[in-house]
Amino acid sequence: MTHDVLVIGAGPAGAVAARELARRGCSVLLVDKAKFPRAKVCGCCLNGAAVAALARLGLTHVLADGVPLRDVRIAAGRRSARVPLPGGVALSREALDAALVREAVAAGVEFRDGVSARFESAARVTIVASGLTGTDAPAEPGSRVGAGTSAPASTVPDFFAPGTIFMATARGGYVGLVRVEDGRLDVAAAFDATFLKTQGGPGPAAEAVLGEAGWPRVAGLAELPWKGTPALTRRAKALAGERWFAVGDAAGYVEPFTGEGMAWAIASAAAVAPIAARAVQRWDASLVREWVLAHRRAVGNRQRACRVVSRVLRSPTLTAFAVRALALFPALSRPVVASLNRPLHSGARA
Ligand SMILES: Cc1cc2nc3c(=O)[nH]c(=O)nc-3n(C[C@H](O)[C@H](O)[C@H](O)COP(=O)(O)OP(=O)(O)OC[C@H]3O[C@@H](n4cnc5c(N)ncnc54)[C@H](O)[C@@H]3O)c2cc1C
Repeated sequence: MTHDVLVIGAGPAGAVAARELARRGCSVLLVDKAKFPRAKVCGCCLNGAAVAALARLGLTHVLADGVPLRDVRIAAGRRSARVPLPGGVALSREALDAALVREAVAAGVEFRDGVSARFESAARVTIVASGLTGTDAPAEPGSRVGAGTSAPASTVPDFFAPGTIFMATARGGYVGLVRVEDGRLDVAAAFDATFLKTQGGPGPAAEAVLGEAGWPRVAGLAELPWKGTPALTRRAKALAGERWFAVGDAAGYVEPFTGEGMAWAIASAAAVAPIAARAVQRWDASLVREWVLAHRRAVGNRQRACRVVSRVLRSPTLTAFAVRALALFPALSRPVVASLNRPLHSGARA
């Protein structure tokens, strides 16, 4: 056994869990099957809760290059509403994830990229942080699939101003666009599988959804290299077992409309560290239950609320009604925005 802890996956969940365990004196090996820095299908928006979770860990500086967010513009067909959304930051996943890995390495973690680890790999404790693609968590029936790309700054119309999230919704799915630190336009979408098929792929599907909103065209969007994801909404079969704990998307995920996945990943990683550190000292089966309860406290309630939002979005009538109500009464968004930005219960401090 060469390390106390093996962390599989170096997204925000894995990098933060690895760092927190190293800071508790554990020897940690962090591996990722991708070569870093790597892109990831993601809206690249850290909400106020994610920013607060990083601040609690003394990691605010990793966001230094990010674009501060002001508001979100939501469209249902030609109707749109602008909702203030302060407290968040847009930062590409290449930049964010590489910065978090650097922080883990600075805390003493050994990092190997381009290495695919197997769950049974030898270490006292394994943290499974392998995201959506790295688990066998069953997908919910009818779950949407994700897709993403990024458009070079030179091709992006001025309409898509930095600091605003543009979210176009339609019957077959939704597309989110935001400028990241280098002026590129990050594009992230969730589509019904049948819509994706009938449109002929993610590029044409995104153009169809954005066309309904009537926003300026991003030249060449359909021809950009798009990446896809498996079905998005899934529940992990188990959150932990003998000498292993799952965190981040690997512990279950809900469609990304509310843009909370990274907050959940960071908060769950911070919350698992003290429990996993005790497991390194001495394995006790009661730690499984302890992690299930701590995970529920950290992110469980928020995931339930996100499920409700994703169901509303399935109904074009309800979505159009919500957008119309927000356009007329923007103050209606205040409680939802406050709840999205409220710090999560990770129990961790820098
Ligand atoms: C369309 C879309 C839009 C989104 N928009 C937002 C948003 O705006 N804001 C937000 O907060 N969240 C958003 N999310 C969610 C967010 O991307 C995830 O919740 C977040 O990345 C989860 O972090 P993680 O560390 O758990 O997993 P990931 O970031 O997926 O990292 C997992 C890592 O594990 C590695 N891996 C997998 N299997 C193995 C293996 N066997 N061995 C080694 N390495 C492995 C992968 O290469 C990957 O690097 C969005 C998601 C989607 C799909």
